[in-house]
Amino acid sequence: MNDIILLKQGEIVLKGQNKRFFEAKLIANAKRRLKKFGSFHVYATQSTVYVEPQSDDCDMDGALDAMTKLFGVVSVTRAMACDKDKDAIFETAKTYLAEAFDEAKSFKVETKRSDKAFPMTSIELSQYVGGLLSEEFPEVEVDVHDPELTVHVEVRESAAYVHGKPLPGAGGMPVGSNGRAVTLLSGGIDSPVSSYMIARRGIHLIPVHFFSFPYTSEQAKEKVLELARILTASCGRLTVEIVPFTHIQEEIRDKCPEEYFTLIMRRFMMRISERIADMNGCKALVTGENLGQVASQTMEALRVTEQPLSLPVLRPLIGMDKRDIIAIAEKIGTFETSILPYEDCCTVFTPRHPRTKPKLEEVLEVESALDVEALIKEAMDGIERVCFEI
Ligand code: ATP
Ligand code: MG
Repeated sequence: MNDIILLKQGEIVLKGQNKRFFEAKLIANAKRRLKKFGSFHVYATQSTVYVEPQSDDCDMDGALDAMTKLFGVVSVTRAMACDKDKDAIFETAKTYLAEAFDEAKSFKVETKRSDKAFPMTSIELSQYVGGLLSEEFPEVEVDVHDPELTVHVEVRESAAYVHGKPLPGAGGMPVGSNGRAVTLLSGGIDSPVSSYMIARRGIHLIPVHFFSFPYTSEQAKEKVLELARILTASCGRLTVEIVPFTHIQEEIRDKCPEEYFTLIMRRFMMRISERIADMNGCKALVTGENLGQVASQTMEALRVTEQPLSLPVLRPLIGMDKRDIIAIAEKIGTFETSILPYEDCCTVFTPRHPRTKPKLEEVLEVESALDVEALIKEAMDGIERVCFEI
């Protein structure tokens, strides 16, 4: 007899006609994440996904933790299994939920019974278990209308299950249910957070990183790969496209006025990202840009940056405060890696006085000194791919 994990679906339940499609994605994503924790049977009924271990050696703690990171789920509950016997159910509730009883002022028992051969009705079983629990925890009142703690009892074919308060789920929608996008991933604090936020809307991501060896070090690349690895727990499998960017940056340095370095470099990043997006069926680009944070993130600079594109640029952090971004980075586990002190290609050849209110015509004029198409092709030909499974 084993414990099980219950996943409550979030926005998927609002999907009406498409519900089955979203649910199938969610189940497939759950299965993929559970593989390394043992053999599980995963299926859905009534907006709940059941995760049932198929053997005693399944790592339930690992599985529970993985499920709290799964997009498309609003709450995650581990339910204790016991014999289908009214006293065994009471004993299980008493020990498993002892801590929850310590914290609650009121409770009720709610029973669901899918095994119709069980000798008591749902109400009888709730009253029996509730009666014993209230003797056991006399300071916790019974309140059937608005209890602080609900003791859930489920009598199913294989066993009975008891569970209390669920853990919060990751929310959002199942990755892959809303298409694909390219995310520009630097080693900073912002872009792992923007990636996470868009993946949470059900988007499968392809991270692209621009790498300027030897101006930026191997360690800087390793840092970005580590960020991608951390993100897989939420975003699913990620294949990072590493684009050699050195020659482009040197050409800009040699042929353009210094005050335009960053802007022109960013236009190259956008163009190359769009090519990668087109090759992979992606419908948008994602960046960690944030209004006013740096010289290249004024409204005028953003306009110049995105002007060569036809795909939309999603900027989920655009109006957020840095401390709110940091709070998310800490929550998703990327912050500590992001603050490692390796340089990014944006900090190579940084202009001393960057243009904060660039005019598009001037930028186009400056850029015409470069063979844009040849430089893009050369960079695309040198792409290296690193895949991270979940
Ligand atoms: P971050 O903390 O994400 O690095 P930032 O505040 O340092 O952001 P910029 O360096 O101007 O801002 O970069 C803005 C955005 O451009 C980043 O959030 C990221 O999406 C993208 N970007 C910057 N550098 C790179 C890079 N080397 N490779 C891929 N994308 C990059
Ligand atoms: Mg940066």
